Amino acid sequence: MSIRTAKFIKSIVGSDELLESREIHQVAFVGRSNVGKSSIINSLTRQKNLARSSSAPGRTREINVFLINKDIYLIDLPGYGFARGSWDAREKLGKLIYWYLFESEYQQKKVVLIIDAKVGPTDDDLKIIKMLDEQDKDVVVVANKVDKIGKSEYQKQKQKIQGLIGERKIIFYSAKMKIGVSELVDEILK
Ligand code: GDP
Repeated sequence: MSIRTAKFIKSIVGSDELLESREIHQVAFVGRSNVGKSSIINSLTRQKNLARSSSAPGRTREINVFLINKDIYLIDLPGYGFARGSWDAREKLGKLIYWYLFESEYQQKKVVLIIDAKVGPTDDDLKIIKMLDEQDKDVVVVANKVDKIGKSEYQKQKQKIQGLIGERKIIFYSAKMKIGVSELVDEILK
């Protein structure tokens, strides 16, 4: 399976009739700011600047919608834990994430939660995972930046992350080195 086409459709800040289509499935991407979410979306779609980095202005405080292979919406949620703030449903960005995932009528086919493989899951990451589990969401965890882990610590770090995250699928990924790309593409398209 492969991603043949990927197109930016629009940014939204709340309900949007576009997402009301039941024929087009939604796969949502969520993660802390700077975890490499934009780089992952770009690596998956083999486009350099499809998703914009949170370090660049614009498009990062909204929900960005991309159309993949003309039949799946890839939903790029704002990064959480921006600046000093931690993920908090009352916080403005947190509100939008919370609304889309837990309050809106939209059903995601899958939620791709991105963590930093070197740092491991933060308290915020674990908090979101717990909430997604409570709502029976189909979650796949992507541990990005594996290229930053030395060979000698790799197995240990993998086990540590798996231990904290529990029995679920984790894709060890590097947007920089293009590791794990086909595995994640398969998860999104299946
Ligand atoms: P976002 O805020 O989650 O969208 O993150 P970005 O995609 O903007 O990436 C944040 C920073 O992490 C940038 O400096 C990227 O170059 C870097 N980065 C992203 N993915 C990787 C990766 O797989 N490995 C390494 N070493 N750096 C990465």
